[in-house]
Amino acid sequence: MENRLYESQEIERLDLARYGLAYLEGSSILALSEPDLDKLLKALGQDDISLNIPIPCTPYNVQKILSYSECRNCGRCCIPNPLNPTNPGVEVFESELKAIAAHLGVTYDSWKEKTVSGKVVFHPFDSELDPSKLSFTRFLPLPCPFHDTEGKRCRIYPVRPIVCSIHPVVFTEDKSQIAIKANCDYGKDMIKAAFKDVRKKNPELVIKL
Ligand code: SF4
Ligand code: SF4
Repeated sequence: MENRLYESQEIERLDLARYGLAYLEGSSILALSEPDLDKLLKALGQDDISLNIPIPCTPYNVQKILSYSECRNCGRCCIPNPLNPTNPGVEVFESELKAIAAHLGVTYDSWKEKTVSGKVVFHPFDSELDPSKLSFTRFLPLPCPFHDTEGKRCRIYPVRPIVCSIHPVVFTEDKSQIAIKANCDYGKDMIKAAFKDVRKKNPELVIKL
């Protein structure tokens, strides 16, 4: 059966029994009652585990899912997460870092030296896996240097990296699904709404690529 809890690589990491949810073992996520889904999302959030929604990770679908609710602007995704101490930071494409430097009126190198080398990846929304389109990324440290702690806002909001503009959706190598972090209320809202859509098999959301 599809979408069974134990078949999800991410959810396998969750000790359901530790949260008093052993009775959900083997259940279909799509068939959970709302109270059970709330309990599961709370447990996933506490363990900083993302949930995969069986919807293709396309720009359209990601934007649609993001529109299901609203960011609470708590700023927690801009500071270190004690549940994920090995997180290397905010991944930013070098082209984005150049745009940020230009926005701030400083040189690219002055910002580059505040970051560490990242990966060589395809842009997550690039459908053509053409090697000539591979891009370099870098990691901004956490807390993010652009985070205004007092104002709880992003100082470079108009040019923030794509990983920030789609958070709590996170990119994975599997573009057939959309991974959403459950450790913020915005993410929880999105997961619940997305599952509702998947249940209804909303053709607009599921099919449009
Ligand atoms: S995405 Fe979530 S964690 Fe980040 S600011 Fe919004 S509500 Fe907070
Ligand atoms: S760039 Fe802005 S949104 Fe992204 S982590 Fe930094 S402060 Fe937060």
